[in-house]
Amino acid sequence: MAKLNWGMVGGGEGSQIGPAHRLGAQADGHFAFAAGALDVNADKGRAYAESLGIAPDRAYGDWQEMLAGERARDDRVDLVTVATPNATHFEITKAFLEAGFNVLCEKPMTMTVEEGEEIVRVAEASGRICAVNYCYSAYPMVRHMRRMVADGALGRIRLVVANFSHGHHADAADQDNPRVRWRYDPAQAGVSGQMADCGIHALHLASFILGDEVETLSADFASTVAGRELEDDAMVNFRMAAGTVGRLWTSTVAIGRQHGLDIQIYGETGGLFWAQEQPNQLRYQRLGGRTEIIEKGEAGLSADAARLSRVVIGSPEGFPLAVANIYVDLAEAIRAQKAGRAADPAATAYPKAADGLRSMAAVYAAVASAKAGGAWQDARPPMFR
Ligand code: NAD
Repeated sequence: MAKLNWGMVGGGEGSQIGPAHRLGAQADGHFAFAAGALDVNADKGRAYAESLGIAPDRAYGDWQEMLAGERARDDRVDLVTVATPNATHFEITKAFLEAGFNVLCEKPMTMTVEEGEEIVRVAEASGRICAVNYCYSAYPMVRHMRRMVADGALGRIRLVVANFSHGHHADAADQDNPRVRWRYDPAQAGVSGQMADCGIHALHLASFILGDEVETLSADFASTVAGRELEDDAMVNFRMAAGTVGRLWTSTVAIGRQHGLDIQIYGETGGLFWAQEQPNQLRYQRLGGRTEIIEKGEAGLSADAARLSRVVIGSPEGFPLAVANIYVDLAEAIRAQKAGRAADPAATAYPKAADGLRSMAAVYAAVASAKAGGAWQDARPPMFR
């Protein structure tokens, strides 16, 4: 099968997420890295792109040059990944969608709810794919949890508890470190710190696994390190449309927690526990039963999980291959788009612009709630009410 052409904006040398996208897009042979505007510094970006094997005429200095250059080609990129800092996502994603490109945008998709609604509208009008990189939703065992919930293995879901709490900004002496400081500065980070950075991943995971949406929430924000204007810790109570009770804790000062993303689902007849740091194992307990460990790669795993596993049981498939699973789904969606056929339904679960919008609405609702002493807020985007 011919490879699809892939391009990236941002994700340059030394960036945090760039390598995961490069590994992810190319891991399964679906995409060829054909074009890029990889760095805020044009010369650095061009040089780095060429060092990665991109042809000189497709190693662009900035995203506007890339958009114009790719639009003029017959072999234009089939997918553009936007892996730049948050405040640039809206403008770049919108421009590429309007020019007829499929886009995978990093989270948070936008800085405001209004921008999120605009992206949803533009994506719909363009008929292009707009995906958002909630990559944790593509781990095989997360897909397996989603299948178990949908198949009723836990009965009606009563409670979901999601955490994304790490301790990497706990050092008060880091206050002037520019890599840390901007995250708590509203001028650069927007209305929220940790909730917008990590909390939305955990909240998305809850919605994704349950196949449900956050409807209302109440939040308590804290800035535990002196001098931080935005929150470095948040506790959010929420309710989902189907009535499920939700709890979210997200923090950057939880010393000893490393990555810190985990999720617990409790239904009437069973419970599940999964943590990103042990992604191959899913803990399952039936009401009155013993704890079982469901292992990635074992026989009898759901097709949703099996299609996204590559290596044998007992061998870890970590973060870059979870990102790769987003690209597996997108490759199928794009091939179906090009062929004018329906995509394999198993490949349609990847997170979309609507998910990016819902996250922004939840962030703004949490900010409003925290300011109002925890008053419950409608967490749905206006366009979905
Ligand atoms: P970073 O600061 O490490 O890297 C940003 C890169 O983008 C740099 O190479 C920079 O030169 C480049 N860049 C900046 N402005 C640009 C522009 N206008 N045009 C082209 N390139 C530009 O940032 P990061 O930590 O890699 O984060 C990037 C994005 O990825 C953020 O939105 C972040 O929230 C997201 N992220 C997501 C995950 C995840 O789990 N999905 C993990 C980490 C980061």
